[in-house]
Amino acid sequence: MQAAARARLIPRRALFALTFFAAGCSQTPTPPAPGAPDLPESDAPAPPSFRTDARTAETYMVSAAHPVAARIGERILADGGSAVDAAVAVQAALTLVEPQSSGIGGGAFMLHYAADTGEVRAYDGRETAPAAVTPELFLKPDGSPMGFREAVGGGRAVGVPGVLRMLERAHDAHGRTPWRALFRPAIDRARDGFRVTPRLHRLIKGDAALRADPAAREHFFTESGEPLPVGHRLTNPALADTLQTVARRGAAAFYEGPIAGDIARTVRRHPSNPGKMTRDDLSDYAAKQREPVCVPYREHRVCGMPPPTSGGATVAQILGILSRFDMRATEPMSPRAVHRIAEASRLAFADRNRFLADPDFAQVPLAGLLDPAYLRQRARRIDPDTSLGRAEPGLTGRQAAHRQSAGGRSTTHFSIVDTQGNVVAMTSSVEQAFGAHLMVRGFMLNNQLTDFSFRPRIDGRPVANRVEPGKRPRSSMAPTIVLGPEGAARHALGSPGGSRIIGYTALRVIGLLDWGLDMQQAINLPNMTNRNGPTTLEKPWHAPYNRNTVATTAAGLAGELERRGHTVERARMTSGVHGITIRPDGTLAGGADPRREGMVLGK
Ligand code: GLU
Repeated sequence: MQAAARARLIPRRALFALTFFAAGCSQTPTPPAPGAPDLPESDAPAPPSFRTDARTAETYMVSAAHPVAARIGERILADGGSAVDAAVAVQAALTLVEPQSSGIGGGAFMLHYAADTGEVRAYDGRETAPAAVTPELFLKPDGSPMGFREAVGGGRAVGVPGVLRMLERAHDAHGRTPWRALFRPAIDRARDGFRVTPRLHRLIKGDAALRADPAAREHFFTESGEPLPVGHRLTNPALADTLQTVARRGAAAFYEGPIAGDIARTVRRHPSNPGKMTRDDLSDYAAKQREPVCVPYREHRVCGMPPPTSGGATVAQILGILSRFDMRATEPMSPRAVHRIAEASRLAFADRNRFLADPDFAQVPLAGLLDPAYLRQRARRIDPDTSLGRAEPGLTGRQAAHRQSAGGRSTTHFSIVDTQGNVVAMTSSVEQAFGAHLMVRGFMLNNQLTDFSFRPRIDGRPVANRVEPGKRPRSSMAPTIVLGPEGAARHALGSPGGSRIIGYTALRVIGLLDWGLDMQQAINLPNMTNRNGPTTLEKPWHAPYNRNTVATTAAGLAGELERRGHTVERARMTSGVHGITIRPDGTLAGGADPRREGMVLGK
């Protein structure tokens, strides 16, 4: 059945949770937002005036978290650039306009689909721990783990950035436009300035620690120390210079020489919380190409990023477990469907938390975790009426402790399809909003090392995701490319959101493949996740920052889930899914998450 026809059949009740107001498609985000007010539950939006807002195009498309970045990517594609060319330009632009989320001082994962061969490749630009760290990096002198806040600010948690080496590697393989030309639009923007958006303003305002770093203070605050107001034209000449150097001399100019020297110095000389990074750590950094994790789901294949992110494998486990159920027969977001998704997710997270880590350091039993027979056995544990409560990992093996970051302020995902049908799904991050809160030469340094387990041993056993020199911290980022029955790319998507990324992404795949939603409808689904604890439902709130103001909630499901034994919590769940569908006729339909400021552009 055609997606549009299916969507029309979706019962209104099932989509009770989401309402659009004031849909428009002006090129700039809404003016000053009054914050993001929570709604009383009684005011949870009832009228299901659900409609699709998918942007469509014939030849190329980009969906990204900021209009300036989307426009820059579109320009590269219009000039005949490849999807990877556009990704380089979009990332350069996001470093400028979305510094809270990602940048050249952070790490990323990219999935690439090549239209001519049908091959999916996975590029790993995850940060690494400096050579001089020990597994006790985040322990206090008395041996107890540091508090998160203690660990995060300063140089201690900064990992060796991976974005530029990864982009260069992908560009060597799939680039069409010369590397140096790809930075031009972001350089020009950095010199001319861009308008501070409501989201950026709110994040600066709410961040007490940002002004402690002299460079960040100068960049993000007025002379009198106020957070830059919405609409302020913000320039970044230091970043323009950095990008210019990288454009001319390649990623090596970042990893060797004065830029690397400044990064290492800033990390090591932090007055209160220094790290151990050296120039050698930077020059030694290597991006990796890995084997993507591709699993069958319905008549499709869902391809994701392998470890060191837990994203692809955990999404694959959730879908593998759900393969046992006829999800098409359930109403979208009905209590029955959400119960099954939550339970599948709970089981998958039990394994994730124990087994997944950097495969160059830990033995990750990936094949066992994705074995269909094993997943069938896991699926049998799901009772239609009663929650499992806390699930235990299913394979035996080493213990892995974990911090369940809920994310929501940082990280970014963009999806790109070029004129030839090549596809990029890339998720990029500085970890927390503004990363380590250290600004060097116009960009923010990440705090990605806090994605390691702070405790190296639990119950006397070493933890798979413990800190080790040169190791990549486990991530949850889950860039995803879905292949259709004939093997061609059909969907590209992904999201920010800490370890909730996994649930946000899996839900959209279910929306697309089981419920026949189009990309924008799937993105609009109210959020729910389970990370082997409480089931979290999106609480009623206005997500005011997009061109569309959206009221969304899944809170109405609480009663039905509690009856099945779930502990339910409500949270503002700021996903940021940016996706593109390539329809069987080759036309494109994109979606941008109304919970952020992003936009779909194409032609
Ligand atoms: N650092 C997280 C990860 O790599 C992402 C953080 C977020 O999405 O806010 O999984």
